[in-house]
Amino acid sequence: MSIDKETKEIIEKLLLRGNTLLGETCPVCGFPLIYIKDIGLKFCPKCKKYVITSEADLEKARSLGMKEDDMILTIEKKESKRREPPKDAIGELIYEILKLVRQGKYDEALIVAQIVKILSSI
Ligand SMILES: [Zn+2]
Repeated sequence: MSIDKETKEIIEKLLLRGNTLLGETCPVCGFPLIYIKDIGLKFCPKCKKYVITSEADLEKARSLGMKEDDMILTIEKKESKRREPPKDAIGELIYEILKLVRQGKYDEALIVAQIVKILSSI
């Protein structure tokens, strides 16, 4: 991987200040990250952005006044944040099942029923 002059200078500056090069790499460009000890965040010298990997990192970055544009967010969404399907969608599908059953299309009805099952278990 080639390093451009600007990136190289940033790395040198950061390392001279006692920050450490990490084994982790940037999820965007694959460049090794630098741990900025003063603020406790990981920084990609190539993207010139902070890589946020946890809720704690995000809080830290926000408290430092960083905007999401200055960060690369890799936090996995929590289960509770999963989007619920709109209730109307399930209602419509159930109506569809009834319609299919009335038409004698049992196989199709079964498939739609499985979709409803999946949707309602999310
Ligand atoms: Zn990067």
